[in-house]
This record gives sequence, C-alpha cells and structure tokens, in this order.
Amino acid sequence: MRESCTLRIGRGGVPQSNSLKVDFLGCPSWQSWDFGFGNLAGEEGNRGSGFNIVAGTLAKTEGKTLLLLKPRGFCAGVVRAIDVVRIALEAFGPPIYVRKEIVHNSFVVEELRGKGAVFVDSEDEVPNGERIIFSAHGVSPEVREHSARRGLRVIDATCPLVTKVHVEAVKFAREGYSLILIGHKDHDEVVGTLGEAPLVTQVVGSPEQVKKLSVPDPNRVAYLTQTTLSLDETKDIIAALKQRFPNIKGPAAQDICYATENRQVAVKQVASESDLLLVVGSENSSNSNRLVEVARNLGTTAHLIDSCNDIEPEWLKGATTIALTAGASAPEHLVDETVTFLREKGYANVHELEVMPENVRFGLPPEIVEAIAAAPVNAGDGA
Ligand code: SF4
Repeated sequence: MRESCTLRIGRGGVPQSNSLKVDFLGCPSWQSWDFGFGNLAGEEGNRGSGFNIVAGTLAKTEGKTLLLLKPRGFCAGVVRAIDVVRIALEAFGPPIYVRKEIVHNSFVVEELRGKGAVFVDSEDEVPNGERIIFSAHGVSPEVREHSARRGLRVIDATCPLVTKVHVEAVKFAREGYSLILIGHKDHDEVVGTLGEAPLVTQVVGSPEQVKKLSVPDPNRVAYLTQTTLSLDETKDIIAALKQRFPNIKGPAAQDICYATENRQVAVKQVASESDLLLVVGSENSSNSNRLVEVARNLGTTAHLIDSCNDIEPEWLKGATTIALTAGASAPEHLVDETVTFLREKGYANVHELEVMPENVRFGLPPEIVEAIAAAPVNAGDGA
C-alpha cells in the first residue's frame, strides 16, 4: 500500500469540490462531461491555469523526497478506449481487431493482446465482416469508408476531444478556409484529422515551417492543433501564424485537451523545486514526451520511463527531490511500482501534490452500451 500525504492545491490554496454535469449538444459521441468544478464556457474546472502551489510547501520537505504529481496518468479518453476493448472482448469474445495501438502505451497494448485483442496497422488486415475498433487517436473518413465497404463492424473508440477537432476541420474546410494543422505529421491523430480535408490542410510543427506556408488567400486561413502538444511551443507557432496571417481564425476553445494541459501545469509547478523529473509513459506517447520537454525547458533534468526498470542508477546520484508523473496513457500500477522502487532507494518522504482536481468522464460508444444492455443478467445478481 502506498503511504503518502496529499496536498490539494486550488486557486490561492483553496480546495475546490463542487461538481457540474454538462451535456454536449450536436455530437453523438459527446455524451457528457462531469466537471470537478467550473463551467462550460471556459472548461476552467479541469484546466490548470491560475493554480499555485502554496508557497513554502515544498521547502518544508527534508531528506530524499518524492513528489507525486496529480493529476497524472489515465485521462477520460484513454479510460474510455480501454473500456471499449475490454467490454467488446467480454461481450463478443476474441478475436477483436483493433486498428493501431488503442492508446500509446506498451503495457496496455500487451495486456489487451493477452486477452484476445488483435492489433493491426490497417483495416485491410481484418477479415470481412469482423469487428474492428478504431483507436483513441481517431481515423480519417477514408478509413471509415473503406471499413464500411469491407463490411467490417466498427466500434469507434476515438476520444471525443479528437472528434471535436475533426468537426472543426470539416467546418472550416466547408467555409472555404485553408487549414493549418499544428502537430506532428506522422502521429496517428494528425493523420486522421488531416484526412478530413486533405486538399486544403497543411501540417506545421514549428514557427520556421510557418514561414514556408503558401495559401491561395491569406485572409481565409484557419488553424487547429493536435490535442497533445506542448502549450508553450504551440503558443509560439500560433504567434508566428498570426504574424503571417493577421486575420487567421482558430478554434472557439483550444484544441489541446484538458488532460495534456493539466499534466503540463503540474510539472511546471514543481520543476524548479526538483532535481529530477520522471515521466511514466511509452516512447510513442506524445503527451508523455511533452511533459519531459516542459521540465527540460525549465532547466530540470527529466526522463521518460516505460517502467521503473528504465531508471538508470546514475540519474539518482545527487538527486534529493524527485518529481514523478505519468502521461495520459500510462497505467497507475506502473506509477505504484516506481514509487516502491524509489522508496527502496531511500526516497521515503512521499508527498502527493494535487495541483487541481480532475473529474472528466466520457460516455461509451452506442455499440458498447447496447452490448452491455444485451448481456445476460448474472444469476447471482437477481437474488
Ligand atoms: S490525451 Fe486528451 S485527447 Fe488524448 S485521449 Fe486523453 S483526453 Fe482525449
């Protein structure tokens, strides 16, 4: 069992606890968000801006200390996607085909593979008529159409916040805008979003690339972003776009998701107090890599680890305070194992720092809801 003290930090150090349920309109897969607090207008309840760790809290720690950041690990989109595969396996039985990694974490993928999920790179690899699950990162319309032509039974585990970006791309393209998609061009999410309007979309990953853009009408340009980018680097790219195209339009609310933002804000809060920051996450996890970059940009040594087995002994030399967090696709048991590992290395003071509460939940896709409803009632349940 983990022993630690929890410090909940809200605005000005005031704990936040009221809850608000918000229903989204117009998008069938956005069933509801359960906000920890705040409101729909600003999504403030689950975003990190404006929070500060109480002054002096960290200065009180003595000896080898482990700061366990919260929120960390699984986001609502990842929980939903993993649930979709698990429930599909139980309801329909293996094999269940999953297009690409359901989320970018090697342990999650291996666990689901062990239960009967078959991961494929393309819908082409799935036998006609079988079930296929689209990953949390989303797919292009071409993949949807191809799957339909093949008679595949699709279950869509695309994160609703990725779907939001797809909807925006379609809207801007229909209105005649040239679209600039800020992101990593080979990432599954960007490939899917780009596919919504491939003829009018260009992907940029840096302010330098903005200089090379060419569009038919500089007054009819819009931008969108990948959901898991660095907030700071994205700001720089948007600034470069605004300088180049002063009338550029953007999304009504930022595309970088609450989970990406909150984890970055938490890292920023402790980076200057830490000798080392460890991020649990897989190499291909975009949001996990961004957490490492955020710390390094603040001058703090940081490493991405798939598990505690990746920790190099020399990283710990001279490190009195270590901060530990996890990317949005990293399971909590890997964090627990890392805490145990570091405790054994002498980091006995474990402080969990809750920078803000996070209570987002997404509803399941209709195919899964129907499968649950159709499942036979366990004989023992009725007694
Ligand atoms: S990181 Fe953000 S966009 Fe990606 S699955 Fe999680 S909530 Fe959705």
